[in-house]
Amino acid sequence: MDIKSDLADAVGNTPLIRLKAASEATGCEILGKCEFLNPGQSVKDRAALWMIRDAVARGALKPGGTIVEGTAGNTGIGLALVGASMGFKTVIVIPETQSQEKKDMLRLAGAELVQVPAVPYRNPNNYVRYSERLAAKLAETTPEGVLWANQFDNIANRQSHIDSTGPEIWDQTEGRVNGFICAVGTGGTLAGTGMALQPKGVKIGIADPDGSALFDYYTKGELASSGNSITEGIGQGRVTANLEGFTPDMAYNIPDSEALPLVFDLLRDEGLCLGGSSGVNLAGAIRMAREMGPGHTIVTILCDYGTRYQSKLFNPAFLKDKGLPVPGWLGDGPASIP
Ligand code: PMP
Repeated sequence: MDIKSDLADAVGNTPLIRLKAASEATGCEILGKCEFLNPGQSVKDRAALWMIRDAVARGALKPGGTIVEGTAGNTGIGLALVGASMGFKTVIVIPETQSQEKKDMLRLAGAELVQVPAVPYRNPNNYVRYSERLAAKLAETTPEGVLWANQFDNIANRQSHIDSTGPEIWDQTEGRVNGFICAVGTGGTLAGTGMALQPKGVKIGIADPDGSALFDYYTKGELASSGNSITEGIGQGRVTANLEGFTPDMAYNIPDSEALPLVFDLLRDEGLCLGGSSGVNLAGAIRMAREMGPGHTIVTILCDYGTRYQSKLFNPAFLKDKGLPVPGWLGDGPASIP
């Protein structure tokens, strides 16, 4: 029998799919790791599971305990679903300006939502700082323990990719992988998978969207950024604890104009319904393939499921408003979406 003991047990071991158009265009094997097929539909299920397991192992979280995080996205969904399956409650602190879609999704995943004003990090009511204080306060009355997940600087996040994503890619390609590339939000996926594969001779690249400071950091040594991106969950202005001690071999700056057409093509031509960060990753894989030359095997991450972005990335009015091209097949879009 092949039976998982719970939802947490179903995290990871995602398939690796050959991306046809990109492979044919470059003469390389470009492969996508299907993280959108995790139970919470994103790569962040792995980090969520490892951060929870780490807290349980440290004795910080006991059955009935509570997980707290300041996040607007996939990590919250992962923590809530994986947490519920392991018997924990989840409280997510979110800036009130986030879309209704995201708030609904987090509630649906079972999280309790605390909404705070959208203010910068230096303000004590910033959602991340608020979540840290809330966790400390809840801990006073929760004998089962409270975990403040702190995904940016909690290295159990990257450990999930050192232990699972990296070795899975190595085994699935039977050691034939030559390159791995992805974008950075917390840096857990890039640094963790990189730390697992770089010592085996795999070249590691970062695909950095506009508005992120890491391309400049890895190419010129200074944290500087310009422009912006409609992609979500990626882009970083500092070297997080998850990135510390890891250096990619290659770095590419990827504008939305290069990434988004790839997302639309993957949906229309290859049946892959993905969010914008997967487009940045694929654009990076194509650039890496061109730099390395034909005949190489390059793996990237297909981060999350596209339904999460219906009101933005897949909404013609939103794209037009941002001055971005609307793919023909998207037509005028669903009438109910503003
Ligand atoms: N893509 C999406 C859609 C995400 O939500 C995230 C996580 N913030 C990432 C990519 C980047 O992953 P990481 O945090 O491991 O750098």
